[in-house]
Amino acid sequence: LISNMHQGVSNILVAVRCRPLTKKEKEVEDFKTVQILDGKLVIITEPPGPINKRLNEKKYAFDFAFGENVSQQEVFNKTTMFLLEGVLSGYNATVFAYGPTGAGKTYTMLGEVDKLGIMLMSFIELFTRIEVLSNEREYLVKISYLEIYNEIVRDLISPSTGYLDIREDPDKGITVSGLSELVATSPQEVIECLRLGNKRRTCEPTEANQTSSRSHAVLQILIEYREKNTGIETEKATGKLSLIDLAGSERAANTKNRGIRLIEGANINRSLLALGNCINALYEANLKGTKTYIPYRDSKLTRLLKDSLGGNCRTVMIVCISPFAMFYDDTHNTLKYANRAKNI
Ligand code: ADP
Ligand code: MG
Repeated sequence: LISNMHQGVSNILVAVRCRPLTKKEKEVEDFKTVQILDGKLVIITEPPGPINKRLNEKKYAFDFAFGENVSQQEVFNKTTMFLLEGVLSGYNATVFAYGPTGAGKTYTMLGEVDKLGIMLMSFIELFTRIEVLSNEREYLVKISYLEIYNEIVRDLISPSTGYLDIREDPDKGITVSGLSELVATSPQEVIECLRLGNKRRTCEPTEANQTSSRSHAVLQILIEYREKNTGIETEKATGKLSLIDLAGSERAANTKNRGIRLIEGANINRSLLALGNCINALYEANLKGTKTYIPYRDSKLTRLLKDSLGGNCRTVMIVCISPFAMFYDDTHNTLKYANRAKNI
């Protein structure tokens, strides 16, 4: 039950966040399938029915487990705050929100009015720290915001640019050709840009959920700096924080989709599967201490994150779940996926 990350075995932290039941859900069924214990344990209970009279419970342990009353600030403090020092000193880090549609991924990453999520809290904290560090270093903060929909990359800041290619440059590393980079000077400026970008995400209605989001939204915060007052011209260093609101993890099999919808579903699973495979491979490499093949090339998402997963990068997976009885299967599958990410 001890965090792998703090033992130095792995650079992956896995946290689970369970949202409250909505008013509507409570009217339908107020039984909750999820309980959180001790800030680390998740207990999932199969809703009682005519077949299963006995309560069927499973228990999982994670680095952190956040219950319905845990605030945005606390989730940020425990999952993202500790990454910022590294990012301000030239390291890369990634935070994912994973889980089925409606489980709270966008709430966690982007947030709502007066309930700022991790993306915006990161900016506020980064700008505060840059202010403090500005005596010694000269910083430049740039952001890009893109979506991967159906294995196609689109700019969410200036959507007119069409489809974009991911390139691997020997000097610059991973780049997306033609992607806008916005120089950010204040959190307020960024808030507007992200809200607008989020509205541009491809959200096609499906039978399973009217506002089902099938795209992965990727915010990358690029932090460049130079040491000041060294007397000599110093080289620029760059750190990158990638904050990702993943597409819904519900399986295509659970929806009555046909044709294009089904293809999309397959692609989403491909990206999520590739992500899971990369994380598992990185874990094994870490445990063995040897070089292992990491299948970054298997999807757009993992190609984009090649320089931000593994190596000396830190990775945080925030697994969002709902306690609603109707989502029991999705919730259980999500916990099983998360448990694999943690255990290898
Ligand atoms: P997703 O992005 O995973 O599809 P959302 O973030 O849109 O899910 O959340 C679905 C609904 O649940 C939204 O109405 C949101 O306001 C609400 N919600 C999600 N997480 C929480 C939370 N931790 N506390 C309160 N409400 C939440
Ligand atoms: Mg969403």
